[in-house]
Amino acid sequence: MQELGIDLMLVTPSADLRYLIGYNAIPLERITALAISPHSAPFLVVPRLEISTATASPFGDLGWEVIGWAENDNPYDIIRNTSGFSQGRIAVDNHMWAERVLKIQKNFPNAVIELAAPIIGAIRIVKTPTELDFLREAASAIDRVHAQVPNVLKVGRTEEEVGRDISELILAEGHTRVDFVIVASGPNAASPHHELSDRVIHAGDPVVVDIGGTMPSGYCSDCTRTYSMGDPGIEFIRRYEVLQRAQELSTKAVHNGAISHSIDAAGRNELAKSDLAKYFIHRTGHGIGLETHEEPYVGENNETVIENNMVFSIEPGFYIEGIHGARIEDIVICTPNGPETINNQTRNLVIIEN
Ligand code: ZN
Ligand code: ZN
Repeated sequence: MQELGIDLMLVTPSADLRYLIGYNAIPLERITALAISPHSAPFLVVPRLEISTATASPFGDLGWEVIGWAENDNPYDIIRNTSGFSQGRIAVDNHMWAERVLKIQKNFPNAVIELAAPIIGAIRIVKTPTELDFLREAASAIDRVHAQVPNVLKVGRTEEEVGRDISELILAEGHTRVDFVIVASGPNAASPHHELSDRVIHAGDPVVVDIGGTMPSGYCSDCTRTYSMGDPGIEFIRRYEVLQRAQELSTKAVHNGAISHSIDAAGRNELAKSDLAKYFIHRTGHGIGLETHEEPYVGENNETVIENNMVFSIEPGFYIEGIHGARIEDIVICTPNGPETINNQTRNLVIIEN
């Protein structure tokens, strides 16, 4: 904050707050905010009725003040008076509600308000060894779900029925929350973020299954495998082989110092050789941690320099309107020895015979 000339940072309930002080607060209409200044001790302002939950969080062990505000208090006055802020720059967490930002603007008329991402994002983008273990644990949990997908993905069932079973498996394998379940069969697989539908799965359908959840640690899983209900036809198999090669090439391009777009290009160029690049309609990947999608992003125009202990997905796909689609997704850690893929179910097309 000192380097960037930020005088006060305000962080409301979000992954940022959980990351900084371990307080997994729910965003409520009454404001909770962590105030950090380079000039004084951090403090936490919470609605009075949340004091015991806030002090029971790891923040309570740090010896800093938790200030409760009563129904008739103006919490923004408390923040201003306690922080001693008079004028300068205030950084706010990227996901702060607009109504709060506007209230800060009103209550701190001499402040320039900006995003806290250059401060908090810069810390969160590189994972600690503990975070890496949490992400490995999440990846193993979702791998165990994919291992069981062939038991529930059957010809004659609907995507919704299969999706419901997968949700139960996600919880049974150790997640506390199901974040998303994509079961995209046949032509539905041409939509990368297809919602579960009542479409009945047919023999010969390729089926994209992209699933993820949140573990008790707060860290997320995200993994895609493509299945086929028997023989999907030679055209699909050829395309899938190209995709698998592209996914491998992007993974191999991961190393300390790699520019994000070079990782994207490694796979995209391979798809281009077989005229499939035009069907690859999204970026190669996204960072993952306390949020499923966070920095660093891996895309065609992304200039982020990848460093050791950054973690992100490598998930190229192809999406051919009205026909079929496929995606292969792993979470990869950049290590001093190159890429460490933490999802380990087979990346081959999984043929499910009925
Ligand atoms: Zn995914
Ligand atoms: Zn993903």
